[in-house]
Amino acid sequence: MKIEALVSRAKAAQAAGDPWHFHLLFPGCKLNNSKDHVFVLELAGETLESRSAEPQTAAGEELVQLQFGKKILRPPAAPTANPAVAAMLQEIGELGAGNLRAWHHHVLLPGCAFNPHPGTWTVLFEGKTVREAVFDEEPREELARLETVYYGKN
Ligand SMILES: [Zn+2]
Ligand SMILES: [Zn+2]
Repeated sequence: MKIEALVSRAKAAQAAGDPWHFHLLFPGCKLNNSKDHVFVLELAGETLESRSAEPQTAAGEELVQLQFGKKILRPPAAPTANPAVAAMLQEIGELGAGNLRAWHHHVLLPGCAFNPHPGTWTVLFEGKTVREAVFDEEPREELARLETVYYGKN
């Protein structure tokens, strides 16, 4: 499926108020069993994929702001109080913000097919180490900290 078609399906779901979220999977990612870059869109009862040789980070940057608002790419001024996220950010500082060949993270929503802790918000980090942070509620500020460095906006 073409990435443009997938993005327009996400926009349609957002406009209709239907649940949706996406994943940007690089080769080597724990959630990716192929050698392609895979952009996954999870809709209510339907999962769509777009495969490509290069990562579709521009589509990710567009959709993450559609999903969470533009503030998702503006980190809070205060440092995180969450030890798991602090460890992720420290490792990202060593590997480089936006260096997505070295690290990435996943935001696994309560209904996400990949979430090992259904009903929670799980942040799965893959860098030199694999780390997890699990939240009962949407961790908006922690997501902003991570998305900002993921898209190299810090
Ligand atoms: Zn991954
Ligand atoms: Zn998902």
